[in-house]
Amino acid sequence: MKVLIPHEEIVDICKTIGNQLTKKFAGKNPIVSCVLKGAAPFHSELMKHLDMQIEADYIQVKSYVGTQSTGKINIKKDLDFDIAGRDVIIVEDIVDTGTTLSCLKTELEKRNPNSLTFVALLDKPSRRKIEFEADFVGKVIEDLFVVGFGLDYNEQYRNLKDIYILEN
Ligand code: 5GP
Repeated sequence: MKVLIPHEEIVDICKTIGNQLTKKFAGKNPIVSCVLKGAAPFHSELMKHLDMQIEADYIQVKSYVGTQSTGKINIKKDLDFDIAGRDVIIVEDIVDTGTTLSCLKTELEKRNPNSLTFVALLDKPSRRKIEFEADFVGKVIEDLFVVGFGLDYNEQYRNLKDIYILEN
């Protein structure tokens, strides 16, 4: 497999986004929620670079698109926190078709948070089927299937510290 993003670059991305979030949420106490399982390493690294009081949370979802373009979401593990009135940062590994985060956004907006901010380590805009733009993106990549640093292929490779292009 070929390295696409070495670990050092991932850490740099986390520092940059961490600094931007620290400025954006100065004086606030956001809930920083990881979308399991893929975003777990990114969420852990990113939190090290958040210089403010935060609360960590975790959510696991499965999205499926029906006849409507909005799609529906199946929450396998919900947030522990009540997010009403809170500032919420959602941390995801990659935005591909846009289905997962656009469905999650619709679902979480119903809970009346004060604000919702979406952070994605990677973005593949050329693959979009549902319009969705994250507020913070680590790196835009081409239409490639990548693994490592949380990203899996059949649950394998999540443990790798770099991000690789999976070649057949
Ligand atoms: P979306 O709902 O935006 O189509 O897809 C988001 C999910 O698809 C991601 O959270 C991730 O689990 C999976 N995914 C999309 N592209 C890739 C990829 O290149 N590699 C891996 N490992 N997972 C991907």
